[in-house]
Amino acid sequence: MTINIILLGPPGAGKGTQARKLVDDRGLVQLSTGDMLRAARSSGTEMGKRVAEVMDRGQLVTDEIVIGLIREKLSEGGNGFIFDGFPRTLAQADALGHLLDETGMVLDAVIEMQVDDQALVRRITGRYTCGNCGEVYHDDTKPTRRAGVCDVCGSTDLRRRADDNEDSLKTRLLEYYKKTSPLIGYYYAKGKLAPVDGLAEMDQVAAQIEGVLPVSSEIATGT
Ligand code: AMP
Repeated sequence: MTINIILLGPPGAGKGTQARKLVDDRGLVQLSTGDMLRAARSSGTEMGKRVAEVMDRGQLVTDEIVIGLIREKLSEGGNGFIFDGFPRTLAQADALGHLLDETGMVLDAVIEMQVDDQALVRRITGRYTCGNCGEVYHDDTKPTRRAGVCDVCGSTDLRRRADDNEDSLKTRLLEYYKKTSPLIGYYYAKGKLAPVDGLAEMDQVAAQIEGVLPVSSEIATGT
């Protein structure tokens, strides 16, 4: 038995952090369209160049591009997928439904990570990550122990995202409310929605998510 889930929530809700935990704990494959687009940018592909400006402004890139990225990755199986930052529009949600049907996969749950806007601004404007291992830090709540050095892997490649500033955050929030938040009703109507309190401590959020998923032993034994 595999599980496939969507992490849904505004920028800064903690989707990436929880996705990384689920990868470690459950062996799921994280499909983050944001990470894929950033990788395309830094490798300088045509598509990467085309989307760079859109991303920096905080707008959504076209449905066609992100659906194409997801379609390519769905063949990579494993214990299931965590869709992180995808879908972000109703068209993407419909496309994902078709892709899952075509490949015989089932969507188990859509975890809605609830947070308030003020917390998002605080979380995002202080955020930085390790370019080597992906560990996430924050200026106020979780700085590195040694300035400029990752606690986990020792790398000095600490990065801030170009779109983690107040201006593009405003656009990203607007895009979320206009285009992505209708997915809450969409998945509620499909009986898939599972809200969690994204403002709780990281481990408590993880526990809430675990409470929604089938227990790991069921996955191991296929029951
Ligand atoms: P994220 O890392 O998920 O915050 O995504 C960073 C940026 O990548 C977003 O602000 C968008 O410009 C773009 N992006 C990521 N995922 C999608 C998506 N599913 N649809 C459209 N644009 C996306």
